Amino acid sequence: MTKKDLIYYLKEIRHFYGDTKVLEIDDLKIEKGSITGLIGPNGSGKTTLLRVLAFAEKPKFGQIFYKGRPEFPFSSTIRSKVTLLTQKPYLLKRTVFENISYGLKIRKDTDKLEKRVIEALNNVGLDFKDFALRKWHELSGGEAQRVAMAARLILKPEVLLLDEPTASVDTESAKLIRKASLKARDVWGTTLVIASHDLQWLYSISDKQFSLFKGNIFATGIENIISGPFENLDDKVVKKLDDGQIITLDVTQKKECIAVIIRKKNITIELFESTDKIFHNQLSGHIVSMLLEEKRGDIMVTVFVHDLTFVLRVTPDQISNLDLYPGKKVVLKFSSSDVEWIK
Ligand code: ADP
Repeated sequence: MTKKDLIYYLKEIRHFYGDTKVLEIDDLKIEKGSITGLIGPNGSGKTTLLRVLAFAEKPKFGQIFYKGRPEFPFSSTIRSKVTLLTQKPYLLKRTVFENISYGLKIRKDTDKLEKRVIEALNNVGLDFKDFALRKWHELSGGEAQRVAMAARLILKPEVLLLDEPTASVDTESAKLIRKASLKARDVWGTTLVIASHDLQWLYSISDKQFSLFKGNIFATGIENIISGPFENLDDKVVKKLDDGQIITLDVTQKKECIAVIIRKKNITIELFESTDKIFHNQLSGHIVSMLLEEKRGDIMVTVFVHDLTFVLRVTPDQISNLDLYPGKKVVLKFSSSDVEWIK
């Protein structure tokens, strides 16, 4: 990957709200024309990161390179190329037509304006005759989100940042928003960065997934993060589950950390416990979902171990050899030496 292929390079970004650190990203690269999924629990920093990428929030420390050049928050040239769609759509207190054409008018780019508004509305499944003259308050939540999406897509943005775009809309609107974002990428090469809890969607379209936890980013997609409190038990550090199972996290030293990561690549799925000593952990659970990652052809399996959720990636061969299906009881195995501690 050369510098030219990168649309973003974030270097040593730190952001705080008051004294609380909410982003700590040493190195983040996003390729031009790619689709990136952002996954993480509420409060993990997804919105803050999207606002930084939109140049709408100035991180306290660090640098942002856009297409290889240092760029600065709030710069108007950059903000016309990069656009953010938030979970709750922000519309001007005007008609649908005025909302959609606003960005073009600001740019003084009003050639064939009506035709372009018709097209933009069509893109999100809204009929021009029916909607163009409606006021902002005469729209359902899903329609308002589609209008907000059309207002962004008419600008043919280089980057479209989507913050839970389908979380509070009806199924039909969600479908149209998903379709329109993908079309932007396919037709104009728009780079997409999407934060969503809709993992099925993210896994089916994204080239890469990043997972965020307390402002830290993990480039390997969704990972298993177990929060404390932890206990010291016979020189081991463990996490006790209410169903009696014990997860051994460290056998060499005692740690005072807030959480641990157990990467999905380090977890083995089997049907029965074994006597293999390398696995300090053999946890019983059951499969709750299996999602196809279309780009890789692998399957992301989610397993509940009592009240903890684990994810791991399995191949179609493993699925058929072990006869895995949602509801099936399985044993997850991993070594405590593969556990990584988060301070
Ligand atoms: P996510 O999108 O993953 O839910 P956010 O980026 O919204 O996470 O929030 C990250 C952290 O920053 C949270 O702890 C949140 O409470 C805090 N936070 C977000 N916005 C503000 C703000 N304007 N002022 C103070 N704290 C904030």
